[in-house]
Amino acid sequence: MYEHLEHYGVPKKVIEAMNVADRKLFVPEEYSSSAYFDIPLPIGFGQTISAPHMVGIMCSALDLSNGDKVLEIGTGSGYNAAVMATLVGDDGWIYTIERIDELAKIAKERFELLGIKNVTVVIGDGKKGLPEYAPFEKIAVTCYVRHVPKELTSQLTNNGILIIPVGDEYVQVLKKIMKVDGRLYEQDLMNVRFVPLI
Ligand code: SAH
Repeated sequence: MYEHLEHYGVPKKVIEAMNVADRKLFVPEEYSSSAYFDIPLPIGFGQTISAPHMVGIMCSALDLSNGDKVLEIGTGSGYNAAVMATLVGDDGWIYTIERIDELAKIAKERFELLGIKNVTVVIGDGKKGLPEYAPFEKIAVTCYVRHVPKELTSQLTNNGILIIPVGDEYVQVLKKIMKVDGRLYEQDLMNVRFVPLI
């Protein structure tokens, strides 16, 4: 389904994980016929499910591996969390925060329906991360911020990775922030377009 993502440098194991979670089950019924197009789609409440190539790029940049404990800010449809859940395996865990409780509930139902057991959906404001479950090997933010919240970098483990779109409503850069021995190293990956973190 997503073989073309190899052209974006997305590794095979990520593409395989994307094929496990059927994107059709994560979009509203009226968009079923577009579910496999490589475009973002509306999921209600003014929010969108990211385009498949963006999910592939974020999951690759996070370098997800077996056993990782991951925090996602912005559950949305739950698709990105479902792909990450496959990549971290049964020993890993995804905590995903969503501020719109209807979206969180629908995503939770999808995980139950699909038998995905290693995801916890938290309804709330992701700005401060999830200190009660920190630290995390990986943090993925799927809405843009103007400045990287310190609360998120402080919840990374040593050698942890944070992927986050930073900018304004016109221009955003997807940043990869790595924490090594307490120091943060930042890399700009590409220009992107996300909905805002509220
Ligand atoms: N990862 C999603 C795409 C999410 S779109 C997917 O795979 O479908 C971004 C989401 O971030 C939206 O659902 C929006 O409601 C949520 N969001 C925005 N600000 C937030 C905040 N402060 N805390 C938690 N979620 C937030």
